[in-house]
Amino acid sequence: MSDAKKEKSTKSSRIHVRRAKRKVCQFCVDKVELIDYKDVTKLRKFLSEKGKILPRRISGCCAKHQRQLTVSIKRARHIALLPYTTD
Ligand SMILES: [Zn+2]
Repeated sequence: MSDAKKEKSTKSSRIHVRRAKRKVCQFCVDKVELIDYKDVTKLRKFLSEKGKILPRRISGCCAKHQRQLTVSIKRARHIALLPYTTD
């Protein structure tokens, strides 16, 4: 058996474009003016498994809301609505 592996060198002309899904700030979508630090369910979505605040590039928040989010989460932590870490 002649096992001639003929690999066609068909270079795909398609340029591999990394499709960075354009994340829209969730708070902007909801038209949130002020992030409620008591809204733990919402805040939790922006926490990692370990309870850390997700960076902007992951959370997709705009600068304005990311800032608010950070403050809100810290506030929520302070009054023990959210954990500082879950480890
Ligand atoms: Zn926003």
